Amino acid sequence: MSDKKTSREELFQAPKGMRDIMGDDYYSYQGFFEKAQEIAEYYGFKPIQTPILEQEEIFTKGVGGGTDIVDKEMYSVKTKGGDRLVMRPEGTASVMRAYIEHGMQNKPQPVKLYYSGPLFRHDKPQKGRYREFYTFGIEVIGSPKSIMDAVVIHMGVLMLKEAGIENISLKINSIGDAESRKDYLKELVNYYKKHLGKMNVTDRQRLKDNPLRILDSKDPNLFQINADAPQSVSFLNSTSKKHFKEVMEHLNEIGVDYELDHTLVRGLDYYTHTVFEFFTTESSQPEDKVEPGAEVSLTKRLALGGGGRYDYLSKAMGYKKEIPGVGFGFGVDRIVEASKNIPKPRVKKKSKVYFIQLGTEAKMKSLKVIEVLRQNKIPVRQSLSKDSLGSQLAIAEKSGIPHTLIFGQKEALENSIIVRDMASRSQTTVDIDKLAKYLKSL
Ligand code: AMP
Repeated sequence: MSDKKTSREELFQAPKGMRDIMGDDYYSYQGFFEKAQEIAEYYGFKPIQTPILEQEEIFTKGVGGGTDIVDKEMYSVKTKGGDRLVMRPEGTASVMRAYIEHGMQNKPQPVKLYYSGPLFRHDKPQKGRYREFYTFGIEVIGSPKSIMDAVVIHMGVLMLKEAGIENISLKINSIGDAESRKDYLKELVNYYKKHLGKMNVTDRQRLKDNPLRILDSKDPNLFQINADAPQSVSFLNSTSKKHFKEVMEHLNEIGVDYELDHTLVRGLDYYTHTVFEFFTTESSQPEDKVEPGAEVSLTKRLALGGGGRYDYLSKAMGYKKEIPGVGFGFGVDRIVEASKNIPKPRVKKKSKVYFIQLGTEAKMKSLKVIEVLRQNKIPVRQSLSKDSLGSQLAIAEKSGIPHTLIFGQKEALENSIIVRDMASRSQTTVDIDKLAKYLKSL
């Protein structure tokens, strides 16, 4: 039993930071997922669905300490059997776990996977930041080649464009391989030590745990200090430099615009080489609604997704060897909120006809008529719970559906139906077995 009592109001509320997704919103999410899936499949990616829960170590080792995700935001579950599981806070580590578990190294490389579903982070809820949010991600595992970084980035831009996002901006950076990073971190730590006086407690702690994260800091006191900080690209060894140069060349060749941003490091431990983030420049949120310190109010840019290369992830997770990979995860809630033209999902078809039934006999036979239409792929709307002609006609008028089918006592006995053109108000009686053909001819 929990030690906290739930009040009656709380009882009928979704948990804080979580919400029901319904109606048009639901279709928007679905429309986006379908569009992203279509692009992923086109590029030869295959679907994977990993469990919501994973062993805690998948994330503590994979994502790493010194990150907010692991230190503060994980939903941990202690099972009755004594296992420590975590509700996945991100997608990549789970997919890498699955790749190893299923021996995907033995398949032709690289293995290209896409996934979608909820992620959980116990963060402070606000607009565009939820405790349960939805992701769509892709991962290319088993290739160290720079072209894969470019393909993944290109696909991300495509998905956002086709999801109706305007003003997409892409920021990229390289944090290099382990060798490059060692020298860089040394320099970075020295640099921040000189600015300790201006740093808040969190950032000072980061200096010890994960100095790269300070570059992500939202503290206005650090804006200029971060802008002047040593840049990771200056510390790239020749291999890392070559890799990054090739990624940019590929992007130039495909015509993907990007901005170099040396403060972009993406706080997660597992990144190597290329890191990137997708933004939309137009913030859809009125600033007064955003809590002080929120990233949107400071930057006017809304992060819609991010990713990078993670060649050391498998080893960090405790696997015996390195498995190169690159991928990204989108924040689908933000994409749906920011899009002005989200694609319609396949199930959402415009109804062609509105079905009206009158009398017991007709009501009884209604489902049979509707089934004939469904089998012929003619989308129909109806209100079977209603009885009167007036109320059904009123709904039909309001819906703007061009034709109404009127099925009364006489028609039910004769196996026919009246087709009414709502604009001209002309009516034709048609045999039920010729109905589908007739409607298709309209
Ligand atoms: P991250 O891997 O943390 O960069 O997350 C990837 C994307 O997920 C971000 O760019 C956001 O669009 C989205 N995202 C991250 N955290 C949240 C959250 N708490 N609520 C909604 N979307 C989020």
